[in-house]
Amino acid sequence: MFARFERYLEKVFQFRRRLGALTDHRRTPRIPTQAVWLCVLGLYLLRLRSLNALEQAVRTSRRWATWLGTTPPSADTIGYTLARVDLAGVRALLAQIHHRIKRNKALRRQGLEPFWVAALDGHELWTSRSRHCAGCLTREVPTAQGPVTEYYHRMVVCQLVEATPPLILDLEPQGPAEGEVTTARRLLARVVQNFPRFFQVLTLDALYLEAPIVNQALAAGKEVVVVLKQEARHLFQDAHGLLALTAPERIVGPQRSLLIWDIPELRTFTGVERPVRVIRSVETVPRRRRVAGHWTQETQEQEWAWVTTLPPERVAAATIVRWGHARWDIENRGFNELVQHWHLDHCFKHEPTAIEAFLLTLAVAFALSSVFFSRNLKPAARAGRTRVFLASLLASDLMSAGVRNRSP
Ligand SMILES: [Zn+2]
Repeated sequence: MFARFERYLEKVFQFRRRLGALTDHRRTPRIPTQAVWLCVLGLYLLRLRSLNALEQAVRTSRRWATWLGTTPPSADTIGYTLARVDLAGVRALLAQIHHRIKRNKALRRQGLEPFWVAALDGHELWTSRSRHCAGCLTREVPTAQGPVTEYYHRMVVCQLVEATPPLILDLEPQGPAEGEVTTARRLLARVVQNFPRFFQVLTLDALYLEAPIVNQALAAGKEVVVVLKQEARHLFQDAHGLLALTAPERIVGPQRSLLIWDIPELRTFTGVERPVRVIRSVETVPRRRRVAGHWTQETQEQEWAWVTTLPPERVAAATIVRWGHARWDIENRGFNELVQHWHLDHCFKHEPTAIEAFLLTLAVAFALSSVFFSRNLKPAARAGRTRVFLASLLASDLMSAGVRNRSP
């Protein structure tokens, strides 16, 4: 399976040639950047849990040396190199792969509407009360022994939603002295430059309901869908008055039934030139609950509201609701899969550049294995399997093929 994967990478992505652009700032490197980076790619493809597990793996199988084209690096060398890697090179590689996937039509939209949707969302990576670095964010946490400083990292991630595969386009670390929206704006500027045609609609959390980022998206030719919370006083009150005068649309689906209110042409989003539209949905979801040993059917009501720059002539309210929920993809399908199966929140090397480089490599591994899995495995081999299965196939090749001679 691994040989097939390698051939696929060459045929579709001219992979080796592209790796030549990877560099780092080590003074006297013994092992080329590409070989070190391939090890990290292997770490994610095989879903290994630590650099030591990786070191163990490369020592026990000769197959690695063939793949890397050199002696495999130690865990220390991998960490040291990634902390010095040129991030622009890794980003460029990621972008080239994504563009190739799109050109090959291996990227599919789930909805019928002629729009691609991306989400920007913050994600906390891990926390520690002892180990920290120059890029750590801090907060005070109350404990029984008084307040304690907690160190953590937060990444804003741009990922496609309602798309298969849900490609991670780029990510940006939140700096110690900045708010998440500032980080997101920096990321957005880079994403629209590197991926101009990958999406037309950007969905955002309530936290991002600020004129500057909405205007930035509009200026780049993107439309936005932002969660509206009651805290956004003016907009919410304005819409609320009109809600009472508007008849909702009723949609009854198999999973949930919705009442959707659609209020277009609002001009109370201070700082945004364009009129916006508020959509509110009240959703009734049936729930089965076990009470005193018996299953009972209950319903749960949830209320949601979004602000969008898309007028009703262009996109139906029900679609906005769907996109608004699709942002959870980043939580449910994207982030959850990345955390559970790809160790997104794993600290392989606690150093700012290394953290970014590892996660960008994860994005590459995620894209490559997703397209290989869906386009190159026979439906029978895929049936009922998750992509974790692919990792096990690749691992069985890379871990067992030829145990190395350990004699000195
Ligand atoms: Zn840190």
